[in-house]
Amino acid sequence: MSADRFVRELVRAIGREKVLTGVEDLACYAYDATPAAPRICPAAVAFPACADEVAAVIRVAAAYRNPVVARGAGTSLSGGALPVDGAVVLSLAGMDAILELDAENMVAVVQPGLVVGDLVAAAERVGLLYPPDPASVAMATMGGSVAECAGGLRGLKYGVTRDYVIGLEVVLADGSVARFGGKTVKNVSGYDMIRLFVGSEGTLGVVTEITVRLVPLPPDRRTMLVSFEDLAAAGRAVAGIIAGKVVPATMELMDKVAVEVVESFAPAGLPLWADAILLVELDGLPEVVAHDAIVVEQVCRVEGGAVRVAADDAERDRLWAARRGAFGALARHSPTTIVEDATVPRSRVPDMIVALQQIARRHGITIATMGHAGDGNLHPTILTDEGDAEEMKRVQAAVGEVFAAAVALGGTLSGEHGIGTEKKRFLAQEFDATSIAAMRAVKRALDPQGILNPGKLIDVERAAGQTAAESRE
Ligand SMILES: Cc1cc2nc3c(=O)[nH]c(=O)nc-3n(C[C@H](O)[C@H](O)[C@H](O)COP(=O)(O)OP(=O)(O)OC[C@H]3O[C@@H](n4cnc5c(N)ncnc54)[C@H](O)[C@@H]3O)c2cc1C
Repeated sequence: MSADRFVRELVRAIGREKVLTGVEDLACYAYDATPAAPRICPAAVAFPACADEVAAVIRVAAAYRNPVVARGAGTSLSGGALPVDGAVVLSLAGMDAILELDAENMVAVVQPGLVVGDLVAAAERVGLLYPPDPASVAMATMGGSVAECAGGLRGLKYGVTRDYVIGLEVVLADGSVARFGGKTVKNVSGYDMIRLFVGSEGTLGVVTEITVRLVPLPPDRRTMLVSFEDLAAAGRAVAGIIAGKVVPATMELMDKVAVEVVESFAPAGLPLWADAILLVELDGLPEVVAHDAIVVEQVCRVEGGAVRVAADDAERDRLWAARRGAFGALARHSPTTIVEDATVPRSRVPDMIVALQQIARRHGITIATMGHAGDGNLHPTILTDEGDAEEMKRVQAAVGEVFAAAVALGGTLSGEHGIGTEKKRFLAQEFDATSIAAMRAVKRALDPQGILNPGKLIDVERAAGQTAAESRE
């Protein structure tokens, strides 16, 4: 099989101007946001303009049994969008339209390349909210969010991407197009294929159209900054607020390291004396927000927290910009920033925080702890240098222990960043052999040649046999 022939067929299928082959250009696609990962240049990058062109690319790839890696904005943190050897990267970034914003049915129909923040802004203009809110909201695409089942800051109260997707158009591994669901909020016809495709990391099909439900924009909101002298006390406050039957829209934790780095990068008035802060946002009817604010304040004070309510929108925006910029700030602090997203039941957040502190001490490394603490989704962020081989050995050992601790506390390897290439080797910690075999059976059934994002999420041997293209040679 010749790579040149494969690329020539791609060009024939969708046009020269939609296929990138220059070596320097291809190098840009050897990356996503995953740190310390292998960088492999793809054989080509295809820029389809519609589902038919996505299907045409996949048909060529299927004929040559050539890997296809779908790509949105390339902000994956688990290696999902990284090319494998000889792959064609299928960039969906140009398919970025809002096809319909149906305010009456509180539904939007969008293309996969639409940036999540653009949907949030469009929905707000008609008094509606699209709640999934990854910190990467200004870059990440809807297709990438569906493929990773992105969560984010509002996950605590509103859930994650899978809670909003009610319809999908998907190009399957042979280039045929399937449609599931639609505009109805209720739909139990057939298998729940939407849940299967959401979070499948581009390994089962390529999403070309997404229908999501929207919710009314909450009429009131209040942001509170709570500062603690003790990180463990912040963890206990998180558990206490939930136990007090208050579900904030957002409850973000940042430890001392994260606060110091953020303040040195872009000062937002975060307290440098604190061992940890919680950023809490309540939303809903004004009377509900007022009631919940009293509960949050009481619980935090019991744990020794100092509470400040954002005085106006400008202060609110400054605080949230600090949180959203935290990864960027941490990335400037050290050459390599490894962000994990091991997740535990909410009540075990204090135990996980203690476990992280012990792991950092044991291995002599720096872990900044931050994340969506309200839903148990911590982002222990290891500040390191991939050029330091000795330290990287200790980091790798620590990463394994982070996952082991999360699973031992009844948690999961990933709350929202996906498995990709980075956590595959830990799958057996969370799943038994039967469960892994069931996942492999799904992958084999939908992608028998193993061409869709191979090597991601789960390893499956490729089916033997000659491709149509090989037999023509
Ligand atoms: C600074 C920063 C902050 C972040 N914060 C959060 C956060 O708070 N919450 C969170 O959940 N994540 C977060 N992320 C991770 C990342 O932004 C999300 O996983 C996001 O959903 C990826 O979207 P993307 O468009 O960049 O997808 P990509 O990185 O391009 O791709 C991700 C995966 O989706 C697949 N894919 C892409 N498009 C399609 C498609 N149309 N059909 C099928 N498969 C497809 C790819 O093959 C790949 O496996 C963060 C990342 C960064 C860099």
